[in-house]
Amino acid sequence: MSDASGSGIRTPGSTLGRYQLRRIIGRGSTSTVWLAWDPQEQREVAIKCIDPDVLNDRARGRLQRALLQNEASLANKLQHPHIAAVHDAMICEDHAWLAMEYVSGGTLEAHTQRPGLLPVDRIVELVFKCTRALDYACQLGVTHRDIKPANILLTRNGDVKLTDFGAALFIANERTQVEGVGSPAYMSPQQVREMPLNHQTDIYSLGVVLYQLLAGELPFQASNKYSLVYQIIHVEPPPPSAFRPGLPPALDAVVARAMHKDVALRYANWPEFTHDLAQAFRNRRLKPREDEGGDAENFRLLRTLTFFNDFSDVELWEVARFARLERLAPGTMLMKDGELGERLYVLVEGELAVCKSGRTLTILGSGECCGEMSVIARDRKLRANDVQASTDSLLFAIEGDRIRRASETCRMRFYEALLQVLATRLSSANIRLAECWGARSVDPEGLS
Ligand code: ATP
Repeated sequence: MSDASGSGIRTPGSTLGRYQLRRIIGRGSTSTVWLAWDPQEQREVAIKCIDPDVLNDRARGRLQRALLQNEASLANKLQHPHIAAVHDAMICEDHAWLAMEYVSGGTLEAHTQRPGLLPVDRIVELVFKCTRALDYACQLGVTHRDIKPANILLTRNGDVKLTDFGAALFIANERTQVEGVGSPAYMSPQQVREMPLNHQTDIYSLGVVLYQLLAGELPFQASNKYSLVYQIIHVEPPPPSAFRPGLPPALDAVVARAMHKDVALRYANWPEFTHDLAQAFRNRRLKPREDEGGDAENFRLLRTLTFFNDFSDVELWEVARFARLERLAPGTMLMKDGELGERLYVLVEGELAVCKSGRTLTILGSGECCGEMSVIARDRKLRANDVQASTDSLLFAIEGDRIRRASETCRMRFYEALLQVLATRLSSANIRLAECWGARSVDPEGLS
């Protein structure tokens, strides 16, 4: 049974365009979301269908079609590991649907109340990822305008994907509001006052999400919309720690700054918000966990290293997933001359001594790497030097094979960074050689 005609009758097993509907996985106020199978791409997709009664209502139908159209038009623009991809859309008089990436772990809404609250580290990590995705969107001129837990999806392996960019403003100078857009409990004071908006409205809304995930309560309890609006504009909420004793004061401060009523005192941009979350994160957990979920910490640390300067966020998230953090005690041998090795190491903290035949050739510091030949020269897996930690050291270990299997752009960034390293090393080797020759010609006996 096909419903491309828009009869509105959808059942498991019927088709919508080329998609085979399987089951309903969610309902919003104006739409039903189906899990479907895409036979062309051989993958599961989520299809958001605007409900027939909404489409048949002139005003609501027009608004919902426009929102879906907006979301579809942003599809090619917004490609980020933490934004759910939009694949396809059909919007006309009789029906309006959007096929998107299926994200199977539910939404953050399940974790906004006791007993479903998440551990604090996990909350910080998830919100950290949201700030990166929203910074990416902001750099493309996109403001989401409807950030709330129901629009933050969780993957099976615990990652996040933002969705529902239908209400997004995407033209740099378009700042006007559309009535009926946004969810009151998460709206910024500027949004409820229908003032012009920019990315700082999303910063506020994500601040409310962070508050709710930490506290298990919304910042403002209101029995009607007027009371809510009044509180959003005039009332200071209690800090999240009032509901969850033991929360670090740094996190109360991050929430307060993100939710500041005065835009001049709110985070001015996403990197400031990300930075403060990273600090809170760092203070709580410097050492990687054994289980999954260390990739946000990896990402944060990778971003501080010059080696990865030219990697985009998307490429860096890819690295964050396969790079492994290791700690070395002083004196630990990382590589031995003549031994087999297939790992590239990039130093985060500490010092590594590179030695040959007992002589120290150089000391590597933060952001520098060793083991690059195992990535560049496929047939040359033997280490050419000894490398030993001279201090407590923290480094990333990256399997050469993992780099070769990475996406094309990520792989290219590695090769560019390694070429840069080789060029710098060649040039300093030349300088040393020249110095050596100079010294020989002045005092040949001094060197012998
Ligand atoms: P409203 O439309 O009222 O703002 P909402 O944002 O929850 O509410 P939808 O976007 O229609 O509404 O989503 C409804 C539900 O469908 C979500 O809460 C989620 O459980 C599920 N859902 C939405 N998109 C996906 C997706 N890409 N993958 C998996 N499930 C999804």
